Amino acid sequence: MSDSNGINTLNPPLNAQFYRTLLESTQAIPWQIDWKTLKFSYIGPQIETLLGWTQDSWKSVEDWAERMHPEDRDWAVDYCVSQSKAGADHEADYRALTKKGDYVWIRDVVHVIRDENGDVESLVGFMFDISERKKIEDKLFDLQKELEDLSFKDGLTNVANRRMFDSIIEVEWTNARRNNQPLSVILFDIDFFKQYNDIYGHIQGDDCLKKVAKVLSQSATRPRDFFARYGGEEFILVLPETDIESARKVADRCRSLIFKEQIPHQGSDASHIVTVSMGIDTTLPEHTDTIKEFLQSVDRRLYMAKQQGRNRMVDVG
Ligand code: GH3
Ligand code: MG
Ligand code: MG
Repeated sequence: MSDSNGINTLNPPLNAQFYRTLLESTQAIPWQIDWKTLKFSYIGPQIETLLGWTQDSWKSVEDWAERMHPEDRDWAVDYCVSQSKAGADHEADYRALTKKGDYVWIRDVVHVIRDENGDVESLVGFMFDISERKKIEDKLFDLQKELEDLSFKDGLTNVANRRMFDSIIEVEWTNARRNNQPLSVILFDIDFFKQYNDIYGHIQGDDCLKKVAKVLSQSATRPRDFFARYGGEEFILVLPETDIESARKVADRCRSLIFKEQIPHQGSDASHIVTVSMGIDTTLPEHTDTIKEFLQSVDRRLYMAKQQGRNRMVDVG
C-alpha cells in the first residue's frame, strides 16, 4: 500500500539501520533483556544522557535493580518479575539512581516476547523520563491538600468551619454511642453583636470575632476537643467523653477567658465589655436519638440564656 506521495505506508523498510536510527533518536530509552540469562542484550545510548551510567555498564537485571531507589526496589522488582513470569505486558513507575546520586522518575513500559512454543524469550521495553510529570502531580497533590484544608477552615477567624463541625459531630456522635460515653456541646453567641457592628463598624466587628475565636479556641484543651465557627457570631465546642459537670467547668473557663480580654462594648445591655451567652447539653446517644434534636436542645438553652439576661450559661431545659 502506498500513500499519495508513493511512500510505502504498510511495510516499513526492514533494515537494521532504519530501526537503530529510529530507536536511538527517540526520547524514550529502548532496551531488551534476554529472559534466560537475565542480561541486557540492548539498551539505548540515551540512557547515559539521562542517568549518567554508560550504555555498556548495563549488563544484567541486577544493574537495573541496584540503580533504583531503595524504597521502590522491592516492589518494582517483584512486580516486574512476577508479571514477566506470567507473560503479561506491564509498566512500572520508579525512581532510577543517576551516576551523580540523584533520582529520576522513570516509567518503564515492558512487553513480553515469546518464542514459537509460547515460552517467554525476552523482555523489550521503553523507559520514559516522567520526572516533570511527577513534579506536576506532586504540586497538584499539595494544592489539593491545601484546598481541602482551606475548605474546612473559616476564612475570617482561621478556626474550623461549619462544614468541619458537621463531619466531626457525626464521628463523635457515633463514638459516644458505641462506647457509651457522654458527649457535651457548648454553643456560644456573642451578646449584642449587631450593636457592636453599629457602633464600631464592620471591620472592627471582624477583629472582635477573630479575638473571640482565638480566645475560645484555647478552651479546647484535650486532644479530641473541637472548636469551630458555627455561624456569624456563633461558635461551638464539642467535648467528647465529657459529662455535664466537666462541660460546665469548661464553659466557666470560657467566660473568664472572654472577660480577661476586656473588649469594650458600649452598646451592650449586658455589660460594658464583650460577653457571650452559652447553651450547654450533654448526651449519651441512643440509637433512636438524632444529632439534629441534640443540637436543637443546645440551641434552646442558648436562647434561654439570652432570655435570662445574656452573659451566662444555661444547661437545663
Ligand atoms: P444577641 O445578644 O441576641 O445575640 O444579639 P446580637 O445582636 O448579637 O444578634 P443578632 O443575631 O441580631 O446579630 C448578629 C450580628 O452579627 C448581625 C451580623 O451583622 C453580625 N455578624 C455576623 N457575621 C459577621 C461577620 O463575619 N463580621 C461582622 N463584623 N459581623 C458579623
Ligand atoms: Mg446569633
Ligand atoms: Mg449574638
